[in-house]
Amino acid sequence: MINADHPELSSWVEVQPQSDFPIQNLPFGIFSVAGKLPRPGVAIGEFILDLSAVHDLGIDLGSFKKEELLAPVLNPMMAHGKKAMAMLRERIAYLLDAKNDELKGLSEKVLVKQSHAKMHLPVHIGDYTDFYSSIDHATNVGMMFRDPANALLPNWKHLPVGYHGRSSSILVSGEPIYRPKGQTRPDPEQNPVYGPCRLLDFELEMGFITFDGKPLGQSISTAEAEEHIFGMLIFNDWSARDIQKWEYIPLGPFLAKNFASSISPWIVTLEALKPFKVKGEKQEPAVLPYLRFEGNHNIDIDLEVEILPEQGEGKVVSHSNYKYMYWNMVQQLAHHTVNGCNIRPGDLLASGTISGPDTGSYGSMLEISWQGTKPVQMPDGSERKFIQDHDTVIMRAKAEKNGVRIGFGEVRSKVLPAL
Ligand code: CA
Repeated sequence: MINADHPELSSWVEVQPQSDFPIQNLPFGIFSVAGKLPRPGVAIGEFILDLSAVHDLGIDLGSFKKEELLAPVLNPMMAHGKKAMAMLRERIAYLLDAKNDELKGLSEKVLVKQSHAKMHLPVHIGDYTDFYSSIDHATNVGMMFRDPANALLPNWKHLPVGYHGRSSSILVSGEPIYRPKGQTRPDPEQNPVYGPCRLLDFELEMGFITFDGKPLGQSISTAEAEEHIFGMLIFNDWSARDIQKWEYIPLGPFLAKNFASSISPWIVTLEALKPFKVKGEKQEPAVLPYLRFEGNHNIDIDLEVEILPEQGEGKVVSHSNYKYMYWNMVQQLAHHTVNGCNIRPGDLLASGTISGPDTGSYGSMLEISWQGTKPVQMPDGSERKFIQDHDTVIMRAKAEKNGVRIGFGEVRSKVLPAL
């Protein structure tokens, strides 16, 4: 299996030492270049390997058909399942290996510079679910909005709390978002008002993309879960805190969340992430049998969030890590399907805001500015309690081991004024 446990591997494609995309990574995405339709590609260094172009040269890529390698989303390829996609990734690693010059002389035909390409949503996302699985985030929010002494609700340590989100408004990195409008009640003594959201926030999350699941009525166990998970990406779950505060009781988030969510364009496979698995926090009280699991399923992925004003210098406002999750991916997928709910190729399950234990590792402005009571000082002298119009929010994620960086690239989104 190609990953960071094999630091000795290198590619004939030049890869800078600080690149997110060495041969040990090989994430999948959808790209286009001028005059051509979006199609699947694999990132290597500053380039993208055009899979359909490799196929056109008569080079064997397994059971994948030409039309699947030219599809505008990865779903048709993902329908082949985990084993076929993992074998394809190994095959690509073989073709890009420095010891193999089969493709090297043809590089102009099969490689596209990332700087010349536009990235698109990598999958058609059928259904999107958002969890609430970071104990530090759930505790912080509980302390702010409820009782500091009983910040976690009684169910929180017994099940990974989640809700169904909306996939139509999921955007890829680079696409701007518009400040949402809606109903809020700024003064609890007065009637609600309508207008642009005043408390626009990001949520630092990671998401995973599924393969096909099981027929409706059946469940996926924690032991089976990874067979149904393709890989991960960075997820910014934009949130309108003032809309949320007024609307969320009793059914949870609605218009405060569904106006936009942004994802990074590359899906980093579970195979690439395997060397970064770590043990999670001990779950106490013990979970029900269907949520028990074997092995380590937390993953050590460094995360950061930067706010970049339109004029001036950016500021990194959070350093967090995906390893802080209380509930892991296999538990989330087992819980999601325990009632017989089915999943399909291209579903997106997001972690929930990832906060760490200290103030520098909080994953939302709500927590970083503690409801606006601790504004962040920006290099240009301005302050941020929440996100302003024309700010760009950039999230980055990477895992590093043996001198090998498995990066996710970034999700970068500019906030435009309400329409
Ligand atoms: Ca969220």
